[in-house]
Amino acid sequence: MESLDVAVQRWPDARRVCVIGAGTMGSGIAAHLANLGFHVSLLDVTEKAAFAGLDRVQRGKPPHFYVPESAARIEAGALDDHRSWIAQADWVVEAIVENLEAKRSLFDRVEPLLRDDAMVSTNTSGLQIALLAEGRSESFRRRFLGTHFFNPPRYLKLLELIPTPDTDPGALAAMTRFLEDKVARRVVPAKDTPGFIANRFGMWAMFHAVRTAEKLQLTIEEVDAITGPFLGRPRSASFRLNDIVGLDIMRDIAANLVERCPDDPHREALATPRSMATLLERGWIGEKSGQGYYRREGREFLSLDLVTHAYRERREPDFPALKELGRKPLAERIAAALELRDPVGEFLRHHLVPVLRYADYLKAEVSHSVLDFDRVMQWGFGWEMGPFATIDAIGAENLGIEPESFFRGSEVRTFTGSYTERPNEPQYVTVEQCPIVKACDGFNVRDLGDGVLALTTTTKMGVFSPFLVDAMLAEIEAGHRGPLVLTCEGKHFSAGFDLKFILECIDAADWARLDAGLVRFQRLGEDLAARGVVAAVQGFCLGGGYEMATACARVVAGPESTIGLPEAKVGLVPSGGGLARLRARLQHDAKSLAEMAVRLSMGTTATNADEARKLGFLRETDVVEYHPDRVLFTAKNLAVSVGPNLEPAYALVPPMVVGMIDRGQEKHRQAGDMSEHDEHIGDRIKAVLVKSTSFATALEAERAEFLSLCGRALSVARVRHMVETGKPLRN
Ligand code: NAD
Repeated sequence: MESLDVAVQRWPDARRVCVIGAGTMGSGIAAHLANLGFHVSLLDVTEKAAFAGLDRVQRGKPPHFYVPESAARIEAGALDDHRSWIAQADWVVEAIVENLEAKRSLFDRVEPLLRDDAMVSTNTSGLQIALLAEGRSESFRRRFLGTHFFNPPRYLKLLELIPTPDTDPGALAAMTRFLEDKVARRVVPAKDTPGFIANRFGMWAMFHAVRTAEKLQLTIEEVDAITGPFLGRPRSASFRLNDIVGLDIMRDIAANLVERCPDDPHREALATPRSMATLLERGWIGEKSGQGYYRREGREFLSLDLVTHAYRERREPDFPALKELGRKPLAERIAAALELRDPVGEFLRHHLVPVLRYADYLKAEVSHSVLDFDRVMQWGFGWEMGPFATIDAIGAENLGIEPESFFRGSEVRTFTGSYTERPNEPQYVTVEQCPIVKACDGFNVRDLGDGVLALTTTTKMGVFSPFLVDAMLAEIEAGHRGPLVLTCEGKHFSAGFDLKFILECIDAADWARLDAGLVRFQRLGEDLAARGVVAAVQGFCLGGGYEMATACARVVAGPESTIGLPEAKVGLVPSGGGLARLRARLQHDAKSLAEMAVRLSMGTTATNADEARKLGFLRETDVVEYHPDRVLFTAKNLAVSVGPNLEPAYALVPPMVVGMIDRGQEKHRQAGDMSEHDEHIGDRIKAVLVKSTSFATALEAERAEFLSLCGRALSVARVRHMVETGKPLRN
């Protein structure tokens, strides 16, 4: 056998993965890897079980695949029938039942089949990794480790990576690189202790919240109101999260922790709380069973009463302090909330304080640094601030913890009390980390380093308001000539052009002002195109936002971006150059152009970047950056080498396109999903696409159609409804 050192150099090129166990996790991991382009073999005890797993992820909600076609990259079958799949794999991931003996005997069978340079790992959440490797050959043990994915793998970017004392350091380093670069994960190294970091601490915090709610007799709505976005955490907060994870899973993980941590003085918090015991007894284990702490009834959610254990209607929590403090920055907000003399303060003193103290107690046992610990809670649980950053915000001295900051500028305190520099990870650069060179109306100019600047929008949802358009025009037309990225400071690239401005103009019948606004918006697109810019896109990239992005020479889109032109949903047509550009791109492909026209008249958008490519919103040359945290970095690298976005000259579109569009619309009308007004909008879109003879005339036609729709009552009603309610009106 060649040395492992040589073999690991090939790991980053791995293409074939064999996932063993086609349950919740195995099939989810298989789907994630297939999304990324890996060739995946999915094995289970029987062929039936393997196909059932594949079928489950194909029908899963939210979807596991970006586009259904990716499922074709997965082959499924029985372990005994397809040993060669193991032999061919570059990486074998074990994800079978959580049972030590079952896993050990599986590795007994797998080891003789494994290629001697293949990576091999387990997805166990609760077993000791070293025990799983016990008795295996040295070659196996050196390249074996825990790769702990989170559920569902497509959506949760955290991966805890757990070596054993026998894991080769070179293999560990190569695996880390592979998982970050090719598997699109944020990797946190963890120690081989029960539940690693996420489950050991996260589960304890989840149980503790239930216990505290019961003790203080708060309702589940009250606790969820406190522990959601107010604390910088996801909306699922505490009780919704319990339902999502599943109370049975929570019980099993907790039982395993209690058994494996006999010396943890705080483990009594993991005993099943009263309400959870009742729910488990009734089989109401959360979303899987249709009910848990919450029960969906039509469009409403009923809540479990923690005293009577019966469902009742939702009671809106009455906590004025949440609103008042909600406006403060998170760190200040949490510190202030702890002082409140009301149920919010009381709950936080009884819950948050012990949770933070527990993190402090656990830190050295389970993690290599408090930065890693915080990252687990940020990436696996969606906390904006991890426990140690939170302790710093409150002041350790107020919690009875050694009063020295965990984070000091760019430094992190180690477990021995010294400080080390945070790791240097340019690939994960965020907009906020890049210095502001100039603050403008609606955006900042930031320095991404290496001579690359970024225009980063600061408006709500990245909306292109007229003042932003004007300021950006001024900046681009006067600004420096180096590489440039267009992106956002918030979660969303852009929800579109400013609808409020449009409605204002409509109400004042000020068509000249509206047209002038559109002219300048189109000019911004042309300036971006001429300038050679890369758009770094995530979240919403819709309407006018999409038009500016696609005017750029390249789009780099994060996987979960929502991309497209939904203007029809607000009764309008795209008029920031979107139609003019799509027309030029699709003019030689009658079928695609007709399909696009029908799609635009329905306002249908893509729910992720791969789908956007499939639907024609992204070009061949645009880039899908599957790592959600590397979009800016990839855009920056690309910006150095792009030239202007030269639009191809207009050719005549094939005459048959008109009939194809009409037939497409007719189909939707018959299916009842296209109203008469949708059809009218569709006809206006068709006119722009088919009749324009040049890019310039297409831009004019876009504006003319847009303005004429602004004079129609049904369109105005749609615009007004969206501005007032945030939801589309169907009329
Ligand atoms: P699961 O019960 O949904 O699926 C287990 C699958 O393994 C079943 O399809 C079963 O038929 C198959 N299996 C059992 N023995 C086998 C064998 N000898 N050979 C081949 N297949 C076999 O379990 P899961 O929830 O997917 O968990 C799998 C692993 O992932 C466990 O170790 C678990 O601790 C871990 N994990 C689970 C989660 C989660 O949220 N469910 C999260 C992270 C890690």
